[in-house]
Amino acid sequence: MIITHVACGGNIRRPGYVPVKVNMCVRCGETDAPDPLGYCATCAVQVRVELSDGFKRLRSYLAAWAAFDAWLHGHDEGPALA
Ligand SMILES: [Zn+2]
Repeated sequence: MIITHVACGGNIRRPGYVPVKVNMCVRCGETDAPDPLGYCATCAVQVRVELSDGFKRLRSYLAAWAAFDAWLHGHDEGPALA
């Protein structure tokens, strides 16, 4: 699982530190988070969209490796991965 944007309260020693309240969304820190993963409704949807996009990118990346591996086999080379 890839989570790229998780908001937090930050470093307690830095100026502007804002403590995150219990049961607040771990991503935006602005609303209550009934989701068991700690997201509010809006952020839960956005995180799922980001995850979906990430899986699409991963599938494309792995397909490129598979195509490269097939190309290597067609040119009497070894596998792309050892
Ligand atoms: Zn949120």
